[in-house]
Amino acid sequence: MSLLVVGSVAFDALETPFGKVERTIGGAATYFSVAASYFTHVNLVGVVGDDFTEHDAAIFRGRRIDVSGLERAAGKTFFWAGRYGADPNERVTLATELNVLATFRPKLPEAYRSAKHVFLANIDPTLQRLVLEQIKGKPRMVALDTMNYWIEKTPAELREILAHTQILMINDAETRMLSNEHNLLRAARHIFKLGPKALIIKRGEYGAMMVHNAGVFAVPAFPLEEVHDPTGAGDSFAGGFMGYLANASRMDDAVMRRAMVYGSVMGSFAVERFGLERIRHLTRREIDARARHFYKLTHFRL
Ligand code: AMP
Repeated sequence: MSLLVVGSVAFDALETPFGKVERTIGGAATYFSVAASYFTHVNLVGVVGDDFTEHDAAIFRGRRIDVSGLERAAGKTFFWAGRYGADPNERVTLATELNVLATFRPKLPEAYRSAKHVFLANIDPTLQRLVLEQIKGKPRMVALDTMNYWIEKTPAELREILAHTQILMINDAETRMLSNEHNLLRAARHIFKLGPKALIIKRGEYGAMMVHNAGVFAVPAFPLEEVHDPTGAGDSFAGGFMGYLANASRMDDAVMRRAMVYGSVMGSFAVERFGLERIRHLTRREIDARARHFYKLTHFRL
């Protein structure tokens, strides 16, 4: 079933202990779409500048990604620069240049408006709302990501969109900031009062935790000897999670748990190489093989 994403399509400059790249394609919506496209068809909403070439757009070609909602505006594409040290969970943002994203007003192509699954990637909550408002009928699932910047700067707008969100997918620091609670279970209880029915806390190399009415489920990060570039792990996780859910006929606890594993699978592939290098070249067979690895990794008898 249809899956729509709105978020950044970017040029990233990245620096990790394994190397440095000056300009590579990134952005939350890019990682999300590529990851989700292994599971389902994705409709992408975003904006790029006139510096985004046909060669750059190749990342979306030959996949189940519709880019008729990817606007091309005069100006430069969103740019982000980040650096990681030995701890992949700690990143320093060196630059954020909104460029064409600053004046972006999303307009959904008609064919996108019947979306049943929606992922509002980390972007201005006002833009997230503008997208949701254009969708006809009630989607089966709305999931949202956000960050400290929006939690601090636009709390009212964020609350407004959270009231229409079923799944909130954020990291542990953001969970604590949004709820004013250090304990993550207490934080979840607070967040449920704002609208979401499920909270998925992304914890980088410690994996991810889901809290919802059926209880708590935790999935580890796949153990890797070398994490080359943590960028996009969260969005690739979201892509695997939502892609799997969008294709599932039911949405019960068992399905949500499997979606968590597929999220973690896609996050683990994303960090193996710089930028999108690893996840752009995957096969569904490799993805399912890693999911079976997760089963072995976590299986035990009582
Ligand atoms: P993550 O999955 O959290 O590692 O997301 C990394 C991606 O988010 C990078 O490719 C960036 O281009 C993008 N990004 C970073 N900061 C922002 C921002 N403020 N708004 C939108 N996208 C961003």
